Amino acid sequence: MNRFLTALAVFALTNPLAAQERPIIMIDPGHGGDDVGVEHAGVLEKDLVLRLGFIIGEELVSRGYDVRLTRTGDYAVAWADRRGQAESIGAAMLFMLHFNGNEDTSLRGAEVRVYQAEPRSSHLASLVEAELKKLGAPAVTVDRDWGFLTSPTVPTVMIETAYMTNPVDGRRAQSPEFYRSVAERLADAADEFLGRE
Ligand SMILES: [Zn+2]
Repeated sequence: MNRFLTALAVFALTNPLAAQERPIIMIDPGHGGDDVGVEHAGVLEKDLVLRLGFIIGEELVSRGYDVRLTRTGDYAVAWADRRGQAESIGAAMLFMLHFNGNEDTSLRGAEVRVYQAEPRSSHLASLVEAELKKLGAPAVTVDRDWGFLTSPTVPTVMIETAYMTNPVDGRRAQSPEFYRSVAERLADAADEFLGRE
């Protein structure tokens, strides 16, 4: 956490260009506090997504984005507030981070949940799915009309990054190397979405 926050501070100090020239990307590490998310073999989803969120943030900052997180510690954030934070700062996109779990331990790979009726969110989801497919596991997009996904102003995707309950994915879900790969893939998707390639 400290390394990320330091990187953010240094970047802000050494880049006097107006913040508005750098698109803001909102990262939402799911769950938090009493809401632990998936619990498997003593590992809690809420902890994994927070670590993943910081690493994605570092990658995006290194590419010139302004990054905000909906939570930076182990506390609860209301679903509506996750979308609300992104909308209130005019975020260019919102990545909601999760890990999956299922009684069927053979299931693995990523799931991108999106409100397909929102064209920009749908487009962002297609880019994210294509990038995540490069990680050597299945990636699929699923249509959901959940309220926190339906922002008319902030393109939003919820990413179930991998299955904590699958032996192979479960190791990845705790691997900093895997987190960095995911970060690069999402940053590529963001670059492409905003035409920054
Ligand atoms: Zn979750």
